[in-house]
Amino acid sequence: MRCEGALIRWDGVVRPVKCPFCDKSELKVTDSRNACETNAIRRRRECLHCGLRFTTFETAELSLQVRKRNDRWEDFDQQKLVKGMQSACHHTKVSRDQIHSIAAKISGELMQRQVQQIDAMELGEMIMKALQEIDRVAYIRYACVYRRFKELDEVMRAIQSISEEESKQIEVGHG
Ligand SMILES: [Zn+2]
Repeated sequence: MRCEGALIRWDGVVRPVKCPFCDKSELKVTDSRNACETNAIRRRRECLHCGLRFTTFETAELSLQVRKRNDRWEDFDQQKLVKGMQSACHHTKVSRDQIHSIAAKISGELMQRQVQQIDAMELGEMIMKALQEIDRVAYIRYACVYRRFKELDEVMRAIQSISEEESKQIEVGHG
């Protein structure tokens, strides 16, 4: 998305960018690049009125409400997704980068869907799906915390499926 002179929020609200020195909004973008880690776009701008240059960081704002299990609402917070995954991924092969990229990917997906509200359970499902693809142990730990498993034997079956897979790998390794 390329938009010059205005920040367009994902929900369609347009907020004009103004020169911090003279408050005019006729600006020229001289350079823009992604600041990947923060999911932001950095733009170097020049004011056509006073000629001064400055940098803006643009992030799409996600104004999304999450419904918790206790029926209370809270603002969506990408950092909370990260924290939730960190404990489940402790001592697994899931890296810090992978955790951050899962959180960023989920935020991006929600932004594209343009939903205003989501259930915490659904968010949990999205995280579990992502973890399941990269590390089963992290997935099970996360799933236990978020009570996806209704009964203990569901947990046991999930663990069983890991050990079956491991023994298959051992067989292949020895074959
Ligand atoms: Zn200016």
